[in-house]
Amino acid sequence: MHSWRAALLRFDDQGQALHEPDGLLVTGPGPSGARIVVAAGSHAELTPRFAGVPCTHLPGRLLAPGFIDMHVHYPQLDVIGSPAEGLLPWLNDYTFPHESQFSDPAHAAEVASFFCDELMRHGVTTALTFATSHPASVDALFTEAQKRRLRLITGKVLQDRHSPDGVRDQTAQSLADTEALIQKWHGVDRLGYAITPRFAPSSTEEQLRGAGELAAAYPSIWIQSHVAENLDEIAWARALFPDARSYLSIYADHGLMRERAVYAHCIHFHDDDRALMRDTATAAAVCPTSNLFLGSGFFDFAGAERVPFAHGLASDVGGGTSFSPFVTMRAAYFAGREGQTKPGISLPPERLWWLHTAGAARALGLQGVVGNLQPGCEADFVVLNPQATPLLARRTSQANSLAELLFAMIVLGDDRVVERTIIA
Ligand SMILES: [Zn+2]
Repeated sequence: MHSWRAALLRFDDQGQALHEPDGLLVTGPGPSGARIVVAAGSHAELTPRFAGVPCTHLPGRLLAPGFIDMHVHYPQLDVIGSPAEGLLPWLNDYTFPHESQFSDPAHAAEVASFFCDELMRHGVTTALTFATSHPASVDALFTEAQKRRLRLITGKVLQDRHSPDGVRDQTAQSLADTEALIQKWHGVDRLGYAITPRFAPSSTEEQLRGAGELAAAYPSIWIQSHVAENLDEIAWARALFPDARSYLSIYADHGLMRERAVYAHCIHFHDDDRALMRDTATAAAVCPTSNLFLGSGFFDFAGAERVPFAHGLASDVGGGTSFSPFVTMRAAYFAGREGQTKPGISLPPERLWWLHTAGAARALGLQGVVGNLQPGCEADFVVLNPQATPLLARRTSQANSLAELLFAMIVLGDDRVVERTIIA
C-alpha cells in the first residue's frame, strides 16, 4: 500500500464534489492487479488506520480523479489546427488524407505512442477514441495503451460509402475485421472495444445493420459515432435515410442505441431526440472546442437536464483544439453561457469537473471503476498544482471556496497545472 497526503477532490454518488483541504488517499493492489483506492478522506481521521503505510506528502497540491475524454480521434493528432470552411470540407481536405496513412503499422504505432503520452501529460487517464478504418490502427493504439496500463476504448472505423479511396472499407470484410478485433482485444487488461461507424452518411444500411448485430452479440462492448453536429450533415443524413424519424433515430433503427453507446456532439436535437437518448440509456459526448472551431453550434446543457440523458465532456481532437481538460471545461462553460440559440446557463465549476471525471465514467458505464477517488475505484489520479503560473497562484490564493478554486483553475489552467499523472 501507499498513501498520498494533499488536498483531495472526489465526488459522492449524486455527483456532489467533496473537498478535503488536508486529505489522505490510500492505494493498494486490487483484485484484478490494477491498484485501487483503499481509502480516501481527511488526513486526521484516516491516519491512525494507516499509520505504517509509506506516505508521499505533497503540500499545496490537489489530488483529483484522472480525467476522462469521451470522444477523441487519435489519428487526427496531426490534423489539429487545420484551417477549413466547416465540417465537410475539413474532412475531405485534411482528415481523410491523414487517416489514409494508417494502413502503415509503423506510422500508426508512432502516432499512437505520441497520443498516449499526450493524454497522460494532460491528466487524461481514460479515453474513448476513434481509430481509422484500418485494423492496424486499432492494434497500434491498443498496444501502446497496454504498455502504459491505460484504460482505453477504441475501435476500427466503419465507412463503406461516401468515403475516398484509402479510407473506405468493404462491408463484409469490415464486419469480419470488427469481430476479430473484439475477440482479440476486448477485456484484455484495461482495454475495451467500441463498434465505430464514422457517422450514418458514410455507412450503408447493410453495414449499420451488421454493426447493430455485433452490438447485440457482444453487450459489454461500446458503440461510438457522431450525430447532429452540423446542419449540412443533418440534411444529408435525412436525405440518405428518408424513412427515419430523425438523424439520431437512424442509429436506433439499426440497433445502435443502448447502454455504452456514445454519440459525439448531439447539438441540433429536438426533445424527442433527447427522450430517445434517455429511454435507450445512450450517452452524449459534448465537444465544445470542436464545436466552436468548426462553427457547428452549442450543446444545450439546459435541454439535457430538462429531458435528462447522460452526457460528459470530450476534446474531439483534431476537430477540437486541445487535449487539455481545462481548455475543454472552459469551452463547455462558454457553450453553456451562449444564450442566443438556446437557453444560456452558468454551469457551476464542480459540475464541469464532474462532467469530465465521475460523470463521464457514469455515461460510459464505468461508474465506480474510474473517474473518482472513492474506495474500490482504480487508482488513476492527477497531482495538480494550483500555483502553476504566477496569475494562477495569485488568483487561487484568494479563493474562499471549492467553487472559486476550481473555477480559477478552469479559467486559467492548462497542462502546466498537471504536475503528475498516476495510473493504477
Ligand atoms: Zn469526432
